[in-house]
Amino acid sequence: MSKKLLLKDAHIEGIRHFDVYRRQGGYQSAEKALKMTPEQILEEVKTSGLRGRGGAGFPTGLKWSFLAKPEGIPRHLVVNADESEPGTFKDRYLMEFIPHILIEGILIASYCLGSNTSYIYIRGEYSWIPDILEEAIEEAKRAGFLGKNIQGSGFDLEIYVQRGGGAYICGEETALLESLEGRRGNPRLKPPFPAVKGLWERPTVVNNVESIAAVVPIIQMGGEEYAKIGVGRSTGTKLISACGNINKPGVYEIDMTITVEEFIYSDEYCGGIPNGKRLKACIPGGSSVPIVPANLLLRTIDGKPRYMNYESLSEGGFATGTMMGSGGFIVLDEDQSIVKHTMTLARFYNHESCGQCTPCREGTGWMYKILKKIVEGKGEMKDIDLLWDIQRKIEGNTICPLGDAAAWPVAAAIRHFRDEFEWYVKNPELAQTQPYGITHYADPIPLKVEENDN
Ligand code: SF4
Repeated sequence: MSKKLLLKDAHIEGIRHFDVYRRQGGYQSAEKALKMTPEQILEEVKTSGLRGRGGAGFPTGLKWSFLAKPEGIPRHLVVNADESEPGTFKDRYLMEFIPHILIEGILIASYCLGSNTSYIYIRGEYSWIPDILEEAIEEAKRAGFLGKNIQGSGFDLEIYVQRGGGAYICGEETALLESLEGRRGNPRLKPPFPAVKGLWERPTVVNNVESIAAVVPIIQMGGEEYAKIGVGRSTGTKLISACGNINKPGVYEIDMTITVEEFIYSDEYCGGIPNGKRLKACIPGGSSVPIVPANLLLRTIDGKPRYMNYESLSEGGFATGTMMGSGGFIVLDEDQSIVKHTMTLARFYNHESCGQCTPCREGTGWMYKILKKIVEGKGEMKDIDLLWDIQRKIEGNTICPLGDAAAWPVAAAIRHFRDEFEWYVKNPELAQTQPYGITHYADPIPLKVEENDN
């Protein structure tokens, strides 16, 4: 069973409220942190090896250390709660059920970074959660954990919750800052990076909800102990939101030592595929990471078991691997159409493109139209090559990562499932009524050896 750090008290009634959270040991990490120096906290976070949980996996302590500290200029911490990546809903769970772990994490991080005014920018569609967060903020303030001279430390902190307008692109940190400043959420050209010129041109750290919440157990147990959980550079625990064709969709906290096979089939997690269906493919890290067929999901190309961690999921690069991403784990069974699925994602990214860069603005529209043509039975063989060509021209040629996020699903779908695309073109009528199935690659080989050779 995976160790639980963030969700260990999720089952306790009333944990959403300060008194219950406090009874469970809540805000002890904050009390401890306020007696430390900001440099000591930074050192603990660096030692922990915590990697950003929003998708990029950049080391959090290193990101904090980049923050510019010019004399007399305020600095800010902004929590990115604009969780809009299809398949990802783990931050929602944390904020909805254990909001105080986020508030406590913000207090510790703000003290470390020297931010006296911090923000939570939350996805517009999470319309009921700002009230929960604002109630938690009020409770913490009444208990002396926010406001002026927190716990007699001399440190002041106010936290404000800002609702987003429902644009996926505002999950990109500079688009988020634009939106927070009251403008249209267009990503900024970088440099300068937010650590130097962020919110209102002040030094700013933007971190994901889960990353900030993870600071609480890190301070509680110490960075060194935290780093002992997990494996390699995948330290600590990770929240995974699992959905699609599984028996037990939900949010799970894993310690990144379990295999993908265990995660999908064990009753402790997803509980297998419903109705005895076979696993066809999976997108393990939110919609923008490459889809992988079952055989490459459960085993690397060398036949080693694939593990639920950053290194193992990306082993083989995009040719045979994928990414941990945001932990939005989407499972597809044998009845699912990869072509239709890719079209749905292409439509999403086309809709969410802000339009600033030509390759993204035009390319996402072209990809959607071509995929729609194939799905509707009007596709030609040359359309598949054209799709491949377009995604290559988008990747790496845009201001922000949305361009890559739109290109990668198309590239991976063609790379691994080209025969299904060709089948759609050759059998336009049959494809309207019958799934292609999974006959084009080997089923995963059951794992016999149990040892962790990751
Ligand atoms: Fe906008 Fe797309 Fe360019 Fe990002 S890549 S800035 S979303 S047009």
